[in-house]
Amino acid sequence: MKFDIVIVGAGITACVLAEQLSKQGRSILIIEQRNHIGGNCYDFRNDNNLLIHKYGPHIFHTNKEEVWQYLSNFTDWEPYTHRVLADVEGKLVPIPFNLNSLRDCFPTSLANQLETKLLERFGYGKKVSILDLRKEVDEDLQFLSNYIYEKVFVGYTTKQWDVSPTDLDPSVTGRVPVFISRDNRYFQDKYQSLPRLGYTEMFKNMLDNKNIHILLATNYFDVHQQLQYEKMIFTGKIDTFFDCKFGALPYRDLRFEFIDYNLEHFQEVAQVNYPCNHDYTRITDFSRFYNRTKHFGTSIAKEFSCEHNPLENLSPYYPVPNKESEIIFQKYLSEAKNNENIIFAGRLGNYKYYNMDDAVSKALELVKKI
Ligand code: UDP
Repeated sequence: MKFDIVIVGAGITACVLAEQLSKQGRSILIIEQRNHIGGNCYDFRNDNNLLIHKYGPHIFHTNKEEVWQYLSNFTDWEPYTHRVLADVEGKLVPIPFNLNSLRDCFPTSLANQLETKLLERFGYGKKVSILDLRKEVDEDLQFLSNYIYEKVFVGYTTKQWDVSPTDLDPSVTGRVPVFISRDNRYFQDKYQSLPRLGYTEMFKNMLDNKNIHILLATNYFDVHQQLQYEKMIFTGKIDTFFDCKFGALPYRDLRFEFIDYNLEHFQEVAQVNYPCNHDYTRITDFSRFYNRTKHFGTSIAKEFSCEHNPLENLSPYYPVPNKESEIIFQKYLSEAKNNENIIFAGRLGNYKYYNMDDAVSKALELVKKI
């Protein structure tokens, strides 16, 4: 099999690269071990006429004009504002924890006192990571940060990552800051939407080019000896590519329990988090995503986090950003530099916790280099 470029994986990074490079007239072979394209963004329509995100909720949000314009070539968008609630002491409160959550959790006089302190210290509209808030010396702010840390972050993070928030790179919990605001939206980006016909349709449109050939349900390592190419882009696990010679990088996986209900909606918003109770971290109610689409019942997913077993599933969900994994990753990165015609890209190739828009913009940058 001879191609100009071989791309291993068919997730968001791979689809952007294939689309861009095929337009330049290069022949592309995509090799994907799953039986579908789209990576973890893959969705499908079920019997309830709901689009189900098979690998967990994916909400597209970005401030990057270039990324928004680029993807808009392949899909129309369904307006959608993501809202998340968390079960804190039996009450469902807005996440990111904000001034409204504060009022839901505390009696008015105490909430007033804490709100005044937050406004004086940080100002309205500021976002503060929980780990930074915990460094505050003021007694009231200490009380509040300990409360949020214990009730929102410790349990969830321990379930999700199997370590406490302080043992992860601060950027992980920093993704969900404490928001000194009354804005209950999960994301504040300029653009947030869902592809009107779903992610899979968007990726199909991206790959609709006669120069692109796709091998599904195929493990790269089973066929690599038959391949001839000028360049290969590998979006799988970088440690696996090198046979884990510097040690296996840590990853976390997810497991989902899908349940159908004969109800219009299961819960008030698309996502409810359970930091302190249950084994699962969150429940997604898919009937809340495309409000204007008629559906016949609802479908939910309970999300459980688990250790990654490389033998069972070669495509894990999350790299685990911390000091130790960074040291191992840097060794693979140096090794990768010795392979001039192989490029590592995407969440697993770069071992980075990318959002979807990061993945797209990194892939667009990479195209310019190639
Ligand atoms: N997090 C938390 N409690 C929450 C929501 C998030 O502790 O209610 C922490 C947790 O460590 C999680 C991280 O913030 O892994 C990032 O959350 P995000 O919603 O961005 O995760 P993703 O949707 O990417 O899984």
